[in-house]
Amino acid sequence: MTASDCLFCRIVAGEIPATVVRETPTALAFRDINPQASTHVLVVPKSHHPDVVALAKAEPEALAEVFAVAGEVAEAEGIAEGGYRLLFNTGADAGQTVFHAHLHLLGGEWLGGLVG
Ligand code: IMP
Repeated sequence: MTASDCLFCRIVAGEIPATVVRETPTALAFRDINPQASTHVLVVPKSHHPDVVALAKAEPEALAEVFAVAGEVAEAEGIAEGGYRLLFNTGADAGQTVFHAHLHLLGGEWLGGLVG
């Protein structure tokens, strides 16, 4: 897959609009187009990796940045104190539909138990 046919690479490049809530040199956070909670933000590395395991192997510092940005967004959204969920769907059986690593930040309401 090249940047031109990866949806999140195109959002990072500014070719597809998104509601960006935070940006650093290596990561971008934007609102999920189909939110599953009051707050549902996706945090992506700007570089293309198909899933979080590939990202961890190739650029562990970028993965750490993704988590740090998620924490900053949670603070900015006012949900840090109440708590929130961070998850990576990894592979088709987990429901991953966009094969550019992305962290889901979900919160702003009671989310239920471990697997929702
Ligand atoms: P996955 O199922 O873990 O791969 O998550 C992909 C997420 O991307 C889903 O929650 C979608 O709602 C979200 N999504 C798909 N297209 C867009 C978009 O253009 N902007 C923002 N979020 C999107």
